[in-house]
Amino acid sequence: MIPVSTALEHLFALADPMPVETVPLQAAAGRVLAQDVHAKRTQPPFDASSMDGYAIKSVEAEQHAQFKVVGEAAAGHGWTGTLGAGQAVRIFTGAPVPAGADHVIIQENVDRAGDLITITDAGDTKSNIRPAGVDFTQGKAVTAPRRLTPGDVALLASMNIADVPVRRRPVVALISTGDELVMPGEEPGPDQIIASNTFGLAAMLEAIGCIARILPIARDTEASLRTLLGLTRGADLVVTIGGASVGDHDLVARVAAELGMDQKFYKVAMRPGKPLMAGRLGGVAMVGLPGNPVSAMVCGTIFLTPMLRAMLGLGAAPAKRHQVPLSCDLGQNGPREHYMRGYVEAGKVRDAGAQDSSLLSVLASANALIVRPPNDPPRASGTLVDIIPLTQQS
Ligand code: AMP
Ligand code: MG
Repeated sequence: MIPVSTALEHLFALADPMPVETVPLQAAAGRVLAQDVHAKRTQPPFDASSMDGYAIKSVEAEQHAQFKVVGEAAAGHGWTGTLGAGQAVRIFTGAPVPAGADHVIIQENVDRAGDLITITDAGDTKSNIRPAGVDFTQGKAVTAPRRLTPGDVALLASMNIADVPVRRRPVVALISTGDELVMPGEEPGPDQIIASNTFGLAAMLEAIGCIARILPIARDTEASLRTLLGLTRGADLVVTIGGASVGDHDLVARVAAELGMDQKFYKVAMRPGKPLMAGRLGGVAMVGLPGNPVSAMVCGTIFLTPMLRAMLGLGAAPAKRHQVPLSCDLGQNGPREHYMRGYVEAGKVRDAGAQDSSLLSVLASANALIVRPPNDPPRASGTLVDIIPLTQQS
């Protein structure tokens, strides 16, 4: 059996970075920036008023000082003259500050009579001016790789970047295998259950920016599996679920080998999980996951998500962990690394219920995996343990 970290290295070796494509800014949120982009302009491009008031010279800003209002500067419509001594320009937020002025006195601090203003409160020492370039200057870089947030999109817009180079979204073909499976919404026979793994994994992978393609269920025959694998053209990663161990009906490894996959089969020292198959089929990366629903979802978190993040150009790193104290006691762990379904609340974590790898109700109630090292001794409440949040997106 190999450790999780070694299995992950094998998967990263299959994770070729996606090609770069250009998308309009409006479609860029959530995508991974593939190349550095540079501001095409300076923001603000001029000294701008941050308040509604009057532009004056700061040396003249004294209590009871009077000014003649000689013009108006509004957002989008500056005043083109040069301010002289004793003069003021009516100014609004976002307007360019006229030449000759270096202070905006807010309108609440003056009295106006006709075109004369008098300062009633000279206590405001702020200039109320946003200097040119205070946000960013032309050429400022937004560096790749980076998953673009709504804030990033606003920044790119402000930089006048209308088209954004991003990694193409990986298309992941998901194939459930098993005679016992039917699709959600179908009527199962007496010996059948509903395929859940493909749907859970699709949701997980779409959340990190993939396009999940759920294929029809492969029956437990070589012909059916061969047909389904033939439908994966155009996918950047093929994922099969179930049929991956060594039972009589576990055909995935056999059929993939017949189709020419340079396949590696690993027994990974983890719980839940264990059988994992990986390789390339016709140049495309393929991963075979175990069928037990919780195993498939845990492997999705531990293996597929990091692999797809690597394909998205976000670097080859395992799922992020951090440490929180236990709020319950945990017993001795066995020889395999255990990814327990846990629940984090008020900064502490407890197990989320029974740890059988078929229990989707427990997985759905969990919000983290508690990682137990091999042969970890019993842990008392209060001990720090590693957790992997289950809602991580980036
Ligand atoms: P297998 O690896 O094919 O032997 O499957 C192990 C267990 O997981 C069996 O109980 C299967 O019925 C179940 N299983 C396999 N694939 C799925 C799936 N896509 N959705 C739900 N359960 C599955
Ligand atoms: Mg099966």
